[in-house]
Amino acid sequence: MERPDGRIARANVPKQCNHCADAPCVKVCPTGASYRAEDGTVQIDQDRCIGCKYCMAACPYQVRYQVETGEVQKCTFCHHRTGVGLLPACVGTCVGYARTFGDLNDPESDISKRLAEANGGDVLYEDLGLNPSLYYIGLKETEAMPVASAIHRGGNVMKPYEG
Ligand code: SF4
Ligand code: SF4
Repeated sequence: MERPDGRIARANVPKQCNHCADAPCVKVCPTGASYRAEDGTVQIDQDRCIGCKYCMAACPYQVRYQVETGEVQKCTFCHHRTGVGLLPACVGTCVGYARTFGDLNDPESDISKRLAEANGGDVLYEDLGLNPSLYYIGLKETEAMPVASAIHRGGNVMKPYEG
């Protein structure tokens, strides 16, 4: 994006599983491999996954992928770490402290306080009504920026190149 002062601005919108409260990937899974865990995250039981890819087709965020062994995987919010009191790796290692992880139902949690300061934050594809658990601060402003180029992976592009 070229700003009024002639300088170029760049915005990044990292994407991952949104751990939707009304997750279509869970609803379509024929084996129960995709499930909503007690902590509210959406997980995949790899032993029950038959690799049918229904969940991949159902996920509007296109964040699931099939691995060579046939099972489907996605971001787990580092379930193996959070279960023992650690932060997800992306949160713990982000040098810009861009990410916050916590309990959205606890008004005293860091994530609740940060979202309150940001007037609630924004979610991707809110109109789909899936109640995603991933919130962005400044997303609407970023989406309103003119797109000079797009870097994408696996077709997961929010806005294409507009020329
Ligand atoms: S983002 Fe996709 S994979 Fe993640 S819970 Fe929502 S529908 Fe399922
Ligand atoms: S690929 Fe696996 S997780 Fe996805 S719908 Fe099929 S069985 Fe469920």
